Amino acid sequence: MFEYRAFLIKYAEIGVKGKNRYLFEDALVGQIANSLKKIEGNYKVYKQPGRVFVEAGKSDIDYDGALDALKRVMGILHICPVYIAETTDLDKAYEEAVNYIGECYPTESFTFKVMAKRSDKKMPKTSPEISAEIGGLILEKYGDRLTVDVKNPDKFITIEFRDKAYIYSETIKGEGGMPIGTAGKAMCLLSGGIDSPVAAYMMARRGVKVEAVYFHAPPYTSERAKQKVVDLARLTARYAGNIKLYVVNFTDIQLAIYEKCPHDELTIIMRRYMMKIAEDLAKKDECFGLVTGESIGQVASQTMQSLLTTNAVCELPVYRPVICFDKQDIINISQRIGTFETSILPFEDCCTIFVAEHPVTKPLLSKIEKDERKLDDVIDELYKKTMESIEVINCEPMEVE
Ligand code: ATP
Ligand code: MG
Repeated sequence: MFEYRAFLIKYAEIGVKGKNRYLFEDALVGQIANSLKKIEGNYKVYKQPGRVFVEAGKSDIDYDGALDALKRVMGILHICPVYIAETTDLDKAYEEAVNYIGECYPTESFTFKVMAKRSDKKMPKTSPEISAEIGGLILEKYGDRLTVDVKNPDKFITIEFRDKAYIYSETIKGEGGMPIGTAGKAMCLLSGGIDSPVAAYMMARRGVKVEAVYFHAPPYTSERAKQKVVDLARLTARYAGNIKLYVVNFTDIQLAIYEKCPHDELTIIMRRYMMKIAEDLAKKDECFGLVTGESIGQVASQTMQSLLTTNAVCELPVYRPVICFDKQDIINISQRIGTFETSILPFEDCCTIFVAEHPVTKPLLSKIEKDERKLDDVIDELYKKTMESIEVINCEPMEVE
């Protein structure tokens, strides 16, 4: 079996960012290097025009581990395991390309097309000439089992001439999106459910650095419920990078709402306070928006009228990446990114405990605002106490077998 020791990384959208392009490329290089830190191998990550390369030199490498880590780096379109021929001499490169095919595919039969690319336009031959010549040499040696098909080949055999000759024939899909942090920062309301980790992941995929806030209500919600959210943050961090998680003790505010406000409006009023607190934290940390896992019609607190009422307390934009997704579509993503199994663990969160039997589904903003005034004499003090007792947990990517 051929042993790859390097990867050629193709990126998509960051290629079109004009003068800021280097910022995107540098972020990508940094995040690739970071993702490989815990993987066996001594990796050198560097950029070249239009590409990033990962090279393991002579060190032993964990190829599968490295590939798995690269698949989770936002901003990568394609990962191509690459053989690097230390030459730009055409004859030598031809020979290396033919040997590479022999070693990579010792017995297989397939159709192929050779694609040569030159960054140095002064080379003695054109790309189509080089492609045709390498194709001819491959056929000479392996024509009994390989054939050329220029229209619809099973494999593209690509050789890119740069400072060396980079030869590859396999393309693995990456995460896509944009490198984390290149789009700013947002504060995600992270519950223990299925939707919010998916929402956080989707924002991260667009290059947003995510922070999170979880509202818990001890002793009504357990330590294990909190641990579940920490675990979800750490699982999401496998894609999104380290997540700073604020844990807000929400009990006193919830009890006050329970005591003073109409019970059918509990969830809405509670959610308005969650948004307010989240926004305060977001502003303090220079986030440009809030993120929730809300989806239209999922529960009473997510009808369009309810969303209007909760949204009304926020000045920052509220991003709701799964707003139009069916539950099953959200579940599919959570299964793919590995948060689902943790999300469905049965620890209650504060919403389930203080939930009314018949919550309003069409709250009227003016009525909610009026009923909320019943908290006037206690809320400032409670709000202050709540903000002072917030715990911060740095959630690093969880290592998963
Ligand atoms: P999820 O939406 O994460 O699956 P859920 O469906 O139980 O959890 P909902 O009651 O649908 O949560 O709440 C909608 C959104 O409100 C959540 O996606 C999340 O962004 C936010 N949220 C709800 N409860 C909490 C909480 N205890 N802490 C932080 N955010 C919360
Ligand atoms: Mg939900």
